[in-house]
Amino acid sequence: MSEDGIIQRLVQCIKTVQDQSIRIMEVCGTHTRAITKCGIRHLLPQQVELLSGPGCPVCVTHGSYIDKALEIANSEDVILAAFGDMIKVNGTKGSLSDMQIQGARIIVVYSPEDVLTIAAKNRDKLVVFAAVGFETTAPLIAAVVKTANAQRLDNLLFYTALKIMEPVIRFILQDKRNKINGLICPGHVAVIKGADYFRFITAEFGVPAIVCGFEAADIAAGICMLMVQIAGKRPVEFANIYRRCVSPQGNTAAQSMINEVLDIADGAWRGIGVIRNSALILNKKYEHLDAAKRFGTGMEQGTSPAGCLCSDILMGLKSPYQCKLFGTTCTPEHSSGPCMVSSEGACAVYYRYGGGGAGGQ
Ligand code: SF4
Repeated sequence: MSEDGIIQRLVQCIKTVQDQSIRIMEVCGTHTRAITKCGIRHLLPQQVELLSGPGCPVCVTHGSYIDKALEIANSEDVILAAFGDMIKVNGTKGSLSDMQIQGARIIVVYSPEDVLTIAAKNRDKLVVFAAVGFETTAPLIAAVVKTANAQRLDNLLFYTALKIMEPVIRFILQDKRNKINGLICPGHVAVIKGADYFRFITAEFGVPAIVCGFEAADIAAGICMLMVQIAGKRPVEFANIYRRCVSPQGNTAAQSMINEVLDIADGAWRGIGVIRNSALILNKKYEHLDAAKRFGTGMEQGTSPAGCLCSDILMGLKSPYQCKLFGTTCTPEHSSGPCMVSSEGACAVYYRYGGGGAGGQ
């Protein structure tokens, strides 16, 4: 669809809304970036808010996990491997990036598989992989765990902070402070888990929800469908408009890989707290590869930086522009909180592209 076509479609939908206040959450950080980058927020009237959610894995990784990762990286004969965004997030004593500058052995990986090579080349060191992500990354990490075990790479451990989407969406929808009228569901997670994974949003909470892709036309179509339903012009329903990639049941091979290696456990979400059954950890068969068994979980402490509103942003209660530190003391170069670190964090996205819409700039 052309840019003009997208604008026309949104204009038609906006006419159905009139003065009604509408709050739509785009759960996933990739959607936040796509929506903002293509300027969709700027097309919407003030009464239609698009709220970011908890779908940026770096943003929701608990501060205490970062502190423990710093401790692990500081241990003798350890190489810590992590994704690039992760090393920039501050714990209470700085970031892995700070430690790397000071000479700590911290290696940025681009794919979970990289840790197999690092461990094979450094048999005299203990390699610990900070394995962070959602259901999208979990199958890849599970496959690497299986390979490490099969290859008897006894110098490779996994320090996991893997999370799952359903419990946190439930948690947000149950929060009485939230007035979310509709959800754009995470397309990448749906590729793995299947569209049906998100049906509960509409079935149990009566909230319209759409699985949609990441092109401007996909997102505009999803927002239109939600607005029309929220305005009462169409019945509330769940829909999958990303059918070119997402089947109802998802990728069953990837799901089997997760089930074979990982168990569900309680998980600590930065700024939100512990949510029951919201994490994935290594199961009994692979627990000898679990770095938490050797170094501890690190989930005892951890605080948010003073003045940082990331927790409210992740819960869909506030916009980045409502944070006094936004663009002043907190920028992508010198971030105070995790939402400014990752390229999919709401604050970093708004800083880079301008948010627009309600409260926008
Ligand atoms: Fe936190 Fe910075 Fe975002 Fe404010 S602008 S909420 S301090 S990450």
